[in-house]
Amino acid sequence: MRDPRYDILFEPVRIGPVTAPNRFYQVPHCCGMGYRYPQSMAAMRGMKAEGGWGVVCSEEVEIHHSAEIAPYLEGRLWDDHDLPVHEKMVEAVHAHGSLAGCELVYNGHHSSGHYARTVPLAPMNTMTDFGDPVQARGADLEDIHNLRRWHVNAARRAKRAGYDIVYVYAGHDMTILQHFLSRRHNQRTDEYGGSLENRVRLFREILQETKEAVGDTCAVAVRVAVDELLGEEGITAEGEGHDIVAMLAELPDLWDVNVSGWDNDSATARFAEEGHQEPYIGFVKSLTSKPVVGVGRYTSPDAMVRVVKSGIMDMIGAARPSIADPFLPKKVEEGRLDDIRECIGCNICVTGDETCTPIRCTQNPTMGEEWRKGWHPEVIARSDAGPALIVGSGPAGLEAARALGQRGIDVALAEASEQLGGRINAEAKLPGLATWGRVRDWRIGQLHKLANVGLYPASTMTADDVLAFGAEHVAVATGSTWRTDGVGRHHHHPIPGLADIAVLGVNDVLAGARPASGPVVIYDTDAYYMAGVLAEVCVAAGIETVLLTPDPVVSKWTEKNLEQARIQTRLLDLGVTLATGYGLSRAGPGALEAACVYSGRTREIACATLIPVTSRLPNDVLWHEVKARQADWSDAGLATVTLIGDAYAPGIIAAAVYAGHRYAREYGEAIDPDATPFKREFIEVG
Ligand code: ADP
Ligand code: SF4
Repeated sequence: MRDPRYDILFEPVRIGPVTAPNRFYQVPHCCGMGYRYPQSMAAMRGMKAEGGWGVVCSEEVEIHHSAEIAPYLEGRLWDDHDLPVHEKMVEAVHAHGSLAGCELVYNGHHSSGHYARTVPLAPMNTMTDFGDPVQARGADLEDIHNLRRWHVNAARRAKRAGYDIVYVYAGHDMTILQHFLSRRHNQRTDEYGGSLENRVRLFREILQETKEAVGDTCAVAVRVAVDELLGEEGITAEGEGHDIVAMLAELPDLWDVNVSGWDNDSATARFAEEGHQEPYIGFVKSLTSKPVVGVGRYTSPDAMVRVVKSGIMDMIGAARPSIADPFLPKKVEEGRLDDIRECIGCNICVTGDETCTPIRCTQNPTMGEEWRKGWHPEVIARSDAGPALIVGSGPAGLEAARALGQRGIDVALAEASEQLGGRINAEAKLPGLATWGRVRDWRIGQLHKLANVGLYPASTMTADDVLAFGAEHVAVATGSTWRTDGVGRHHHHPIPGLADIAVLGVNDVLAGARPASGPVVIYDTDAYYMAGVLAEVCVAAGIETVLLTPDPVVSKWTEKNLEQARIQTRLLDLGVTLATGYGLSRAGPGALEAACVYSGRTREIACATLIPVTSRLPNDVLWHEVKARQADWSDAGLATVTLIGDAYAPGIIAAAVYAGHRYAREYGEAIDPDATPFKREFIEVG
């Protein structure tokens, strides 16, 4: 039963001509599906509605081909051919009594026109955002007239598709409407530039016209960046952000407000706390009687009640918390707070969009698999297959044991160390990564509720132990170990000279070891977070630190989860010396030789201790030993032994959780390695 403290979250909210059943609002978010994987997209959005989100919005939906953002997979409402995609989504959302929202967008100079081969419009002639040799055209009055008509036409299509809420979007520094608002992007001298009144003109016109076109049955929402975190150069909550809201206060039916760009709005937990936008958006409600939505990675219903009661927002906007747990509202409603799978703020979900592939999530392995695999985040078929032994309790082992337990299988989870959690135990102690502990804690919490799962910490398993255990199926989830020889993406053989220098392995540092002396050189060819956080650890220990990488920037892969610029800034602020564009060619006493990846020219870098962050080796010895004893299996009652997670192939935590979940879903089934293990969405030919 619901705790009455949370009743306020379940109050209906009137939004113009429509009413949301509660205050849980899935704000628009990209998902790497869009027009290309419409069945997947619709099923994913429908799952949010089933889980109780009173409003479920689309990703950004392009209104016109001239500002398409291929290769990214967003929504399209260029013409009527796009309607079926949206009808499918709306139907899936309406099936559970939720409202469906459509975020219309004209990306302006945040488009390069790769696919349509047309030129995007912008307030002024300007380079486009993606580093392409492409310029956008400064819109003349006829262009502006066309743009207004395109928006109205798309709004009408959205209404025909059945949407309840239609957006006018001026956020994330990605849309022409925000570009017009901004002094930085808009230096026009006509009636659309100059004074704030003039810069707001296009936004106001499109808002009014959208209301006239669809406002009889659809709510018209705005999504606006009220602060760009650029100080005087940008829109600020005390300055023009405030004035924009004041000027348009009662015009939209709903204010969806945030900070821009996207990397500020969706900052990772490493750089921003839950609720970090409150100081910026808090003023909006004082200027309008219309409902206000904001985001802040809220996963706690107490925090949600606080922001509503304190007058910061009327509806709790969420992208990531709704991805990590599509059933968050239902769980609050049913008084099952312990069951909420809290977002860890890692932004692996964002990497789906950034790699133009369907969304994935560290905490929720079913995200993106609702249609193509038919996976439901809360429901999993019961099985009467024989007992399981899971060896290793990292993300893969914990999730395998949990999901198998949910299926009703008898499960034993054996872990060598005293604490369950595997790599999470050490990594959640690294600077900024505490929320990662939720991957472990949620699963352990669920396991404790399952009477059919036995937990065996401090139990190192040998091949004899595995054979003697009596399980029918064994999953070996024994993790991986960082290499200390430098082999990885940049080096196919061990780096010469390592015997002449002190080398500290990543696992040593994770276990608490620190370099005896500096300078320490962290050599990164892994390109994710590890080298950067270890640099923070070394600086905190008072050691002079160099981060050396063949990549042009530090932690290059984090460009895909929106962290890269922040990581580079933090390391510079901490005084870490960044040596980019250099590979480590040789180690020697007291110094390293590094070679420029372009010219081959070498330089010497003083080094007392080297920490190579290059790649990992799977811990698969146990699996090999058990495999070698296959002749004994039938006597032992053993049918299959399967390597999962990092022990199969080292990867990100999301991949290990997914591997554990997949193992449980496929448990006891013969899997045809020749068959594609999911449904595909084919493009109609002809
Ligand atoms: P993954 O990310 O694939 O889940 P982790 O490295 O996080 O892998 O976890 C692997 C876990 O397996 C570690 O906690 C480790 O202590 C445990 N482990 C490794 N070998 C054995 C073994 N022989 N018996 C029991 N547990 C083991
Ligand atoms: Fe949250 Fe990470 Fe899942 Fe994204 S991938 S929803 S940030 S847990």
